[in-house]
Amino acid sequence: MLDKTQKYLFQKKLEELKKIKGQHTELISLYIPPNRQISDVMAYLRDEYSQSSNIKSKQTRKNVLAAIESIMSRLRYLKRPPPNGIVFFVGTIYNGQPKMIAEVVEPPIPINTYLYRCDSEFYLKPLEEMIEDTDVYGLLLIDRRECTVGFLIGKRIEMAAYMTSRVPGKHGRGGQSQRRFERLTEIAAHEWFVKAGEKASKLFLEKKHLKGVLVGGPGPTKREFVNANYLDYRIKNKIIGIYDTGYTDEYGLRELVNAASDDIEELEIIRDKKLMKRFLNEIRKDSGLAIYGEEEVRKALEAGAVDTLLISDALNKYKVKIKCSNCGYEGELVTAKPEDIKCPKCGMPAEIIEKIDVVEEFASMAEQTSANFEIITRESEEGEILYRAFGGVAALLRYKMG
Ligand SMILES: [Zn+2]
Repeated sequence: MLDKTQKYLFQKKLEELKKIKGQHTELISLYIPPNRQISDVMAYLRDEYSQSSNIKSKQTRKNVLAAIESIMSRLRYLKRPPPNGIVFFVGTIYNGQPKMIAEVVEPPIPINTYLYRCDSEFYLKPLEEMIEDTDVYGLLLIDRRECTVGFLIGKRIEMAAYMTSRVPGKHGRGGQSQRRFERLTEIAAHEWFVKAGEKASKLFLEKKHLKGVLVGGPGPTKREFVNANYLDYRIKNKIIGIYDTGYTDEYGLRELVNAASDDIEELEIIRDKKLMKRFLNEIRKDSGLAIYGEEEVRKALEAGAVDTLLISDALNKYKVKIKCSNCGYEGELVTAKPEDIKCPKCGMPAEIIEKIDVVEEFASMAEQTSANFEIITRESEEGEILYRAFGGVAALLRYKMG
């Protein structure tokens, strides 16, 4: 099984890959299971290569062929796939300039099927499923205007659907037509709830490992909606709480989780909240047992003084070793954007020799001194505070440092 850090890093990698879009169907995903002969894969790719020579658009053809060539040249150095298999994501993206992306992923769990796909985005589903072993909660926000459906997967909040209604406001013009207006409004509301209920039920039923459903929204509508059976009975049975939220859009999802995590002990996010409350409390008391900031925390880790290390999952920093082919400079630096790195001496783009996620670095420092290590999600209010007010790195100490 994956430990926290591996899972975090793997997830982050998948999210990066998910954001990449090709201009045409020219991004290649290739999954090679551990028992597959490399020679078979090479034969398959040679075949794909000759077929791809028929692609009509000159640019797409050029990009697809270059991607296949790139994979083949890497495979030549491989005698057999690694123990869990290997996945290639290769293609050209346009960020002003065309740029070839070539990512090689060794999955944390063995791949069991061979798969080649050429599309305008990378195919990530088999890898995404590997980390979806965590509990999943369905999130539903509803009022007469809006409906948002989402998921809480582990500590991560994901939006799945957003809908708006055409139900008119409650107030008509008064007089004779008032009753008729109200009746029409109720019909429109009913239709809206049917539509929202069907959509939410469908999305929730499709999800594996759905442990429960949280419902939210302002006012009494959400309860009326639940009580009137607009949701599939299998989903209704999974409702574990109904909460007041100010919003029914994407922002409301976070509100809903925060509201629920105050009383649903089993939510993973609650651990984060408790730790952060402890941290904030120590800060308030000025006890010297809570510190923050990369430098401070690094020092405390080196001294073995850290009891629990708190790192924000939004901390997007890498420690890179670079080498400049222009002036010969070699050195280490920390950056949020390793892809744009320039030589600090001459300003030319520098080559990255080694890249470590700062989270990974902190995790291994914590391990060396047996400190607890927590990756704190930014999805909770307290997690947001860690990121915004404390720079994303903090620690609870075993003893006060001098
Ligand atoms: Zn240089």
